[in-house]
Amino acid sequence: MTEYVPTIGLEIHAELRTKSKMFCGCKNNPDETLPNANTCPICLGHPGTLPVLNKEAIAHVIKIGTAVNGSIARDFTEWDRKHYFYPDIPKGYQISQYKYPLVKGGSIAGVEITRIHLEEDTAKSTHDKGEKSLVDFNRSGVPLMELVTEPVIYDAKTAVNFAKELQLLLRYLGAGDANLEKGEMRIEVNISISPKGADGKRTLPFGTKTEIKNLNSFKAVEKSILYEIERQTAVIENGGKVAQETRGWDDSTGTTFSQRAKESSHDYRYYPDPDIPKLSINNVSELNPENLAKNMPELPWNLRSRYAKDFEMTEKEVEVFVGSPVATKYFEEFVKKTGNENKKAIRLGINYFLSEYVGLLKKDQGENYEDSIFTVLPSVFAGVILCASSGKMSSRGVKDFLAYAYKNFTQVNEEKDIESAISKLGFIQNHDTGELEKVVLEVIAENSGPVGDFKAGKAVALQFLIGQGMKKTKGKGSPEVLKELFIKNIQNS
Ligand code: ADP
Ligand code: MG
Ligand code: ZN
Repeated sequence: MTEYVPTIGLEIHAELRTKSKMFCGCKNNPDETLPNANTCPICLGHPGTLPVLNKEAIAHVIKIGTAVNGSIARDFTEWDRKHYFYPDIPKGYQISQYKYPLVKGGSIAGVEITRIHLEEDTAKSTHDKGEKSLVDFNRSGVPLMELVTEPVIYDAKTAVNFAKELQLLLRYLGAGDANLEKGEMRIEVNISISPKGADGKRTLPFGTKTEIKNLNSFKAVEKSILYEIERQTAVIENGGKVAQETRGWDDSTGTTFSQRAKESSHDYRYYPDPDIPKLSINNVSELNPENLAKNMPELPWNLRSRYAKDFEMTEKEVEVFVGSPVATKYFEEFVKKTGNENKKAIRLGINYFLSEYVGLLKKDQGENYEDSIFTVLPSVFAGVILCASSGKMSSRGVKDFLAYAYKNFTQVNEEKDIESAISKLGFIQNHDTGELEKVVLEVIAENSGPVGDFKAGKAVALQFLIGQGMKKTKGKGSPEVLKELFIKNIQNS
């Protein structure tokens, strides 16, 4: 039996976050709930209107292109009309880019990118309102970037990873939220199979590809690829031919289904939009790629290797702090307050963040806890960790204080001196020898057995006695001080 190898290429659209739309002054507000609130003759597609380029959207794409090491069209770029008829595009064409995209080349996570271009989103049709179909133009004209990869992906995991990395990049750059469930990022999978060669790789020529649409989760991307590999293999094994077509994804059955035969690009009759002036980025100072690069944050792939090296983070730890820009910001502020060189405290902070703080957040907010991460400010978190690191707080004290601070964050976050606040609230360890000595004498009086054991040389008995002392002080006694006091008092008895 012939073995087959899949070839996959991705086409990903993402709405960009800008103040106004791509070619008009209407608000770009993805959260607008009133249909057709943000519209004007330009984004409604009226004839005779003149589109004007949105520099903010272009700047986003230049930054994305820079981040992926692509080559930016500095000298010349233009916009084209892509013609097709549909109620959500009443002017009969979408303004897109064809021959001269803003970015060519580059790569993310080892996958080569063909191009990144900038176009306009279409309006949104709704077909489930009885006999009528409704069209909402709030989305019409929203800046949309399209990224196309080379057909160089050979498995589902790599495809999903690429899309996740792009999503992360958009969020780091503040270019877009890229939520798949909200349609802010849309992934199309192109996939074909061809017989496996002697070297284990695919043989050329490529097989006929299908394109899978309506994938609104990373899980769907993965599952649809696995399904399509099986389906195409079965078609060929049964002596058939894979049809070049667009297929939809049905999440409930976990299958793809034929939607329509694919149009080829000449059907769109692309031609340069005569209403939009050609753009030379070189002549627009706000679009200077070097200046834009200066305002870019540290990129996630950089952060990953830096955190692994500087703070000895495991891969899992790195993902928590680099998995979203707010988590990174939180960690960076914590490190700043703790002191970059205080490696012991930073390590303690990483541990408590993961073992305690994330737990509190998840219990309260569920898996999408990111928006609440700043509930206990990083300065407060750093204050607690510094107390713990210098032995002033027990681990019980840290846990209790974090739970307290999470509940009473408005009060705690306002404290200037976190250490004295922690102390006032009673979470600091008790080092008072006089007070602790009373406790120690009580414990000795009540536990003659273990005291005798310790005298006879059993070290575990001392641990038991310290434990009893901790119990009596409700976890606030310093275990080091208790230990000294037990040894002193038992030896002297
Ligand atoms: P189309 O004109 O059909 O949109 P393109 O050549 O523009 O096709 O490619 C679209 C996407 O499909 C790209 O991501 C590309 O890498 C991918 N692709 C092209 N040919 C194949 C193939 N035979 N198998 C899988 N993916 C492919
Ligand atoms: Mg395509
Ligand atoms: Zn408008």
